[in-house]
Order: sequence, then structure tokens, then C-alpha cells
Amino acid sequence: MNKIAQIFQSLDYGPAPEGPDQANAWLDSHGRKFGHFIDGKWTKPGKTFASDNPATSQKLADITDGTAEDVDKAVKAASTAFKSWSALSGYERGKYLYAIARAIQKQSRLFAVLETMDNGKPIRESRDVDIPLVARHFYHHAGWATHLSREFPDAVPYGVCGQIIPWNFPLLMLAWKIAPALAAGNTVVLKPAEFTSLTALLFAEICERTGLPKGVVNIVTGEGDTGAAIVNHPDIDKIAFTGSTEVGKIIRQATAGSGKGLSLELGGKSPYIVFEDADIDSAIEGLVDAIWFNQGQVCCAGSRLLVQESIEERFIAKLKKRMSTLRVGDPLDKSVDIGALVAPIQVERIKDLMQRGTKEGAIIYEPDGDLPNGTCFLKPVLVTNVSPANTLVAEEIFGPVLVAMSFRTPEEAVALANNTKYGLAATIWSENINLALDIAPKIKAGVVWINGTNNFDAAVGFGGYKESGFGREGGREGMGAYLKPAWEKGLKTAPVVKSSPHGEAGASATLEPRGRGTNPLDTPHLDQTAKMYIGGKQARPDSGYSRPVLDPSGKLVGEVGDGNRKDIRNAVEAARIALSWSTSAAHTRAQILYFLAENLDYRRDEFAARLKAQTGEDGAEEVALSVERLFAFAGWADKYDGAVHNPPLRAVAAAMVEPLGVLGIVAPQSRPLLGAIALLAPALAMGNTTVLVPSERSPLSVTDLYQVLETSDVPSGVVNIVTGDSVTLAKTLAEHDGIDALWFAGSAEASAMVEKASITNLKQTWTTRGLAYDLADRRFEGDYFLGKATQVKNVWIPYGA
Ligand code: NDP
Repeated sequence: MNKIAQIFQSLDYGPAPEGPDQANAWLDSHGRKFGHFIDGKWTKPGKTFASDNPATSQKLADITDGTAEDVDKAVKAASTAFKSWSALSGYERGKYLYAIARAIQKQSRLFAVLETMDNGKPIRESRDVDIPLVARHFYHHAGWATHLSREFPDAVPYGVCGQIIPWNFPLLMLAWKIAPALAAGNTVVLKPAEFTSLTALLFAEICERTGLPKGVVNIVTGEGDTGAAIVNHPDIDKIAFTGSTEVGKIIRQATAGSGKGLSLELGGKSPYIVFEDADIDSAIEGLVDAIWFNQGQVCCAGSRLLVQESIEERFIAKLKKRMSTLRVGDPLDKSVDIGALVAPIQVERIKDLMQRGTKEGAIIYEPDGDLPNGTCFLKPVLVTNVSPANTLVAEEIFGPVLVAMSFRTPEEAVALANNTKYGLAATIWSENINLALDIAPKIKAGVVWINGTNNFDAAVGFGGYKESGFGREGGREGMGAYLKPAWEKGLKTAPVVKSSPHGEAGASATLEPRGRGTNPLDTPHLDQTAKMYIGGKQARPDSGYSRPVLDPSGKLVGEVGDGNRKDIRNAVEAARIALSWSTSAAHTRAQILYFLAENLDYRRDEFAARLKAQTGEDGAEEVALSVERLFAFAGWADKYDGAVHNPPLRAVAAAMVEPLGVLGIVAPQSRPLLGAIALLAPALAMGNTTVLVPSERSPLSVTDLYQVLETSDVPSGVVNIVTGDSVTLAKTLAEHDGIDALWFAGSAEASAMVEKASITNLKQTWTTRGLAYDLADRRFEGDYFLGKATQVKNVWIPYGA
């Protein structure tokens, strides 16, 4: 065979290395030792740690380990800068963002090479994916800055944002966080990951060069402790975090009750579903991108292959063949597919997980061939013979390890796909558009790619469901995550309501009006204990106890069941069974809410009298407002919907507005009917099912509501009512994994408890933190609660023949 024929046979590439000289020259220009970038200036390096090139193990630079004092200085600088930065017009801020985007493009190769040297990712990826997307984010958000006041009227920036990012996409995660924050008028203190600080420091130079006002962007390098100092700093107004679910939960707890804004972009274990009618060769190429892009160190990596049984054998055989052609090597070589993992410790973590998986029965396949010298290289790995409980199926590996399972029917594919605590992304391969679009909404994930994978764009939101976090980056949702309603600042502390008639004051009053005899059967109140309402049926409390309901003078006006953990459990079960409500037509939900309003209005006098009996106030206005609120959200049910984005790829991205699932609602003590309906109506309109805890002081108007629910065609289980002690029941709801989100109206202390307890499944929370939200206000008739009752799923659909 002649040489050319041989080359065709082996398809071997010669080396095509990218030069590191300019990146080295830049490092040298800083003496390979860096301080922080605070208030537009470089600080003197303090105590440092080494930042190594994982491909060569050579030290690149010494990085300062930020202290709490460093963080404090940065926060002070950002607070000072906030006043003038937020006062600039959107147009002025937009010009800065535009200048940053241009400067990044001009330096794009230096950024790409430095990123690859610092992180180990192939230059092909940093050059063609990371850095172009960074520039795109700054361009996109320059546009948002300009149009902010029109598109987000009455919204204001948070103030100082603390941003903590991981090592897998160092500069890209920085861009996802800094661009929208600045566009909105916030200032930032950002901590890059310990392993990968260099491009953030080069970015600081760009800020200097573009004349960004000092203190608007502050970069403080360091380890986990530096991140914790940012999280815990009292003058930080919002935390945006990307990283592990474990640290995300720590941050959720640390910020509980503080009123700080919070967005969490956490881990994933994303399914990659291949149906039997898929274009198999394309699906294999997609899979290479899904799991071996960035050595699999991608939060949304398609790490769980679910392939239809009828094509499993053929698919796996082709996949193994393709794996044997993947090149593992020097990340600066332009023809390398898989570079170095970020650090030896990450390699060890992955090997440990593989050992555990093997012990549990997994079979590991790796292609032949040698690895390059170095401690951070791993071959691509395919894992088979696993059950859903295998460690390698359940845990996020964050490495080049693909786990394969098969399924028979679309229903089984959906069940397997959703069988995870995570919900970041999913990929579906099928040539049948009906099938793909049927499956996409059934998967609990924030992003779904059809016949493609790992597509990202600044105009398309990205973020998770379930324990993959909450909040979005990119798109309108991502922009909104850096803004809050202007009126929130003016909220006053709510007057303390003595809520429990079981308390000292209520104890004697409780017994007195009831004292017609010790035998409760002697009392005419026999049938007056309002039942709870669970799964469409009246239910007695599990405890067998009831609670008195008193009027303001202490006179008994009725009794309700004293709900406990088991009642909540039953209510949550009923609400989960009723989740088909979320896929019912929006028109149907609208009709039912209108009907509910109509039936409540029909009984307005009765409800008004009941309110008066409990609160002593004329209830007519409250009933009228409640009816109006039901009307308002009936009107929204089929209007608050999504968008279709047109990213610069041959695809559209359908931003679908989806309900959160089962929503717990602990209603306020005052305005007991309106308070409950103001929260219930948006939740129902958007397709959530609910467990509602009415005002503990005046619950009877809500327990009366079950008759109205029944006559209004509200399906069983969509609204469940559990009466009892608000704070105790709120805690149970917050800790319950079957609750997807929780709204709590109550004291600051109890709100903090709710936020802390929510970490079990990282449910989204809205709490009043003891502030006086006037739910009668018309500002609550619109997107404030609609946004909180929903999450956006972006479904990417490619086009082109
Ligand atoms: P971490 O969540 O530990 O780190 C992410 C960022 O948070 C880093 O900047 C880190 O600092 C910082 N940090 C760590 N502890 C705290 C704390 N208590 N308070 C505030 N900030 C803190 O992720 P790792 O980088 O250690 O990676 C571990 C695993 O997390 C990975 O193997 C992977 O499974 C997952 N991960 C998921 C990512 C995603 O995009 N979803 C990204 C990265 C990791 P420092 O790195 O300097 O310690």
C-alpha cells in the first residue's frame, strides 16, 4: 500500500498544535502572580495557591486566596459604584457591554488559548464554542440594557450581586453572570473557581481597557471559603451560583431569610433518548458532543443513554466503533477530541465512582489505544449492564463516562428519563416530529434538544428543574433574574397577628363558649367542625383533634380539624395524582376558574357573613375582590404563554411556560378568603395542583370553599385544603419531597425556616418574610404570581433538509 492509501486507511492526523506563546507572554507580564481586581485596581498578591495546566502539570501562575477582608473591600467598591452605574441610562450601559463584546472578539484567540491551558479543554472547543458564546452574551445583553425600561417597566436592579462560578466553562459562566447583571444596572463581585481563575483575570483587564467605571466589576479569586464569604456578606443583594447541587444547598441554607435574590444552576444527569426511527449516525455524532464535549465535565452532559431496545445492539456496536476514533491528547492540538480533565482530584473522583459502579455490576468498555502522558487524561468510557439504582446511573460523574440503558415504549423512556433527582436537560432523537414533540413536555428538564444536543445561545434561557436548581440564564427569563419589582423596597413590616387560638390568650376563651357540657355529643356544634378537603373528599383530621375558630371577641364561631404530617402526606399524594391538570387545555382551566368565580359570586352573602363572623369586618368587599381575582386569572390561563426564539443556528427554540407541579400554599392570616384566592388562582391558572393551608385564625371561609370547588368542576385533588397550625404545616410542606414549590405568608422567622427546610428537593419558595404584602393590590393580578407559578422549558427544534 502506498503512503497516501495508508493515510486514507488509518485517517491519522498529524499534530496541529496551537502556540501558547501569547498566553505565556501575558502571564509573564503579570509576573505569573495575581492579586484581585477590586475597585478598578489590582491588589497586591496575598497568600497564594498554584494554578496548574492540567495537561502538563506545569504551574501557570500563583493566584491569591481571597480573605473575608478582600471580599468586604470588593463589596464596598461595588456598593459605591452601584449608585452611579444604576443611574446611567440603559443605552449608556449597553455601550459598555458592546465595547466589552468587541474587545473579547479582538482578543479571542488569547482567551481561547489561555482557557485551554488553564482548564484542559480542547482548543477546538474553547476557540469555536466558549469564546464566541462569551462575546455573543455581551452583545445580546447590550441590547437588553438599551430596551430594559420598555421591556421591564417598574423593575430595578438588585444592587450588588455575588457571583460564584465553576471551572468547567470558566469564561462562559462569567459571561452568563456578568452580562445580564451589568445590563440590569447591578454591580458584581465574582469569584472564579480555584482551578480556573486566569481568563477571569484577563477579563478584568478588558474591563480596565474599555473604561468600565471602577467598582462595577470586581474579581476576587479564592477557594470555597472565599465563596462562602461572598454568600454570607450582609451587603450582597443577590447570589448567582453555578456548581454542585451539594454547595447549592449550602448556599440556599445560608441565604434563607436574608431576602437576598438567589439563582442556582446546579448538577445534572441528563437523559439522551434515541428512538428506533432516529437517524442513527447523527444520533451517534450527537452523543459524542453530548458526553465527550469538555471531557464530560458539563452540567447538562447527555450522560444517560436511553436507547430503544429494537436498535440497541446496532447502536452500541456503532458507538463503540466511533469511540475508537476519538482522539485523546494535548488540548492545544487542534485535531484532538478529548483533552485533559481539570485536575488530578477530579480524575480520582471519577475512577472511584467507576469502581463503585463496577462493584454493583456495571460493565465498563474503553476503546483500545494509549493515553498521552499526564495525570489528567481518561479514555472515553461506555458503561452497560446497569440498573437504575447503580451509582453510575444515579450520580453525576462529571467525566467522560456514558451510561447506557434500553427501553421498549415511549412511556418507559419518559419514566426512565425522569427517574432522577436532577432536571437540567434532555435530548430526544427521532425522525418522527409528533413523537419528539409529545415526549419533550413530559420530561422534567429545563432544556430539551430534539435531534441535536448542547445547543446554547444568549437569547435562549438555560436552567434546571428539581435539584438542578432554579432561575434561568440567557433569554428574557435570565434578564428578569437580575431585576426585582421597584415597589418591593417600600414594603413595610406586617403587624404581628396573634394567630393561634391555642395560645395562652386563646386557651380559656376556647373552652368557655363551648362549655355547654363536657360531653361533646351534647353540643349543638356537633356538625360544625369543618372538615378538611383531600382528593375531592371531605376528610377528618388524622390527629382526631379539632381547633376552635374564634371571633375577635373570643367567641367560638366554629371548629376546624387540627391537621398534621399525615394529612399533608395524604393531600400531597392526592395533588400528585391530579397532575393531569397541568396538561389540561388552558381554555379548560380558564372555564373552570370562571365557573368558580361565578359560583362564589352566587354565594357572596353567605361568604361575606362568614367573614364577618370570623374577623368582625364587613366581608362583602373581600368576597367581591376574591371573585374579581378569580376572573383575572381565568383570563390569564390561556394568555400567559411562551415565545419562539430564533438563535443563530438552524433551529428554533420554543420557550414553553410550564407549571411547577404540586404547589404548597400557606395563606396569610388576614383577609382570609382573598389571601387564599390571590395565591390559589394563579397557581391553578398555570396548571399546578395545590395543597392549601388556610389562615389558621380564620380558616372557615376557605373550608366553606370546597362546596364551591365541587360545584365548579374543579377536578378532585387539584385543590386540597388542610387546616391547622400554619407554621407547623409549612415546615412539613417545606420538607416534603412531593411538593415542588411552596408559597408562605407569615413572619420573617417562619419564612427563614421555610427557605432553610426547602433544601430537601430544592423546591422553589416565595415567602413574605413578615412584610405587608397587600394582596388586594392590582399589581398581584398579573405576571408577578404567574411568573412564580411557572418555569420555562426551552425546546430546541432544528430545521433544514
Ligand atoms: P463546587 O460546587 O464545589 O464549586 C463551584 C464554585 O463554588 C467554585 O467556585 C467553588 O470554589 C465555590 N464554592 C465551593 N464551596 C463553596 C461554599 N461553601 N460557598 C460558596 N462557594 C463555594 O463544585 P466543584 O468545582 O468542586 O465540583 C464538584 C462537582 O460539582 C463536580 O464534580 C460536578 O459534579 C459538580 N459541578 C457541577 C457544575 C455545573 O455546571 N452544574 C459545575 C462544576 C461542578 P472552589 O472551586 O474555588 O473551591
